[in-house]
Amino acid sequence: MWWEEGLRFTCLGCGRCCRGEPGAIYFTPEEEAAMAAFLGVDAGEFRNRFVTGKWRAPSLKEKSGGECVFHDAVTNLCRIYPVRPLQCSLFPFWPVLLASPEAWDEAARSCPGMNGGEFHSAEEIALAMAACPFPDLL
Ligand code: SF4
Repeated sequence: MWWEEGLRFTCLGCGRCCRGEPGAIYFTPEEEAAMAAFLGVDAGEFRNRFVTGKWRAPSLKEKSGGECVFHDAVTNLCRIYPVRPLQCSLFPFWPVLLASPEAWDEAARSCPGMNGGEFHSAEEIALAMAACPFPDLL
């Protein structure tokens, strides 16, 4: 693997990954139930208000311009942070971004936390890859 010497990343909390280009945020059934419970809505209401079928699997909706439906533009914080999907917390250690240095560096052009900050060993990265619930989608 090209990342066998490890990679550097520390989230700077800028929120760009929540606001950037349109993209899918997938979630498991357990994550969907947790998000609905956190918001105090039932599964049907959650699906109607917050889920889109425009990607390859059910995904969180986006506002115009690609901002996640749960990104708070005032505080720049995630409104469901304690129960956010694992896809969010694994970023940028997604299979698609780890597939090549080019893919990683392309993502780093939008994320100022990549290629700097905390060192993550190959073992940590492999664990994140293994934890990805959607290895064929991300
Ligand atoms: S774009 Fe990068 S640095 Fe900014 S919030 Fe997202 S992960 Fe953190």
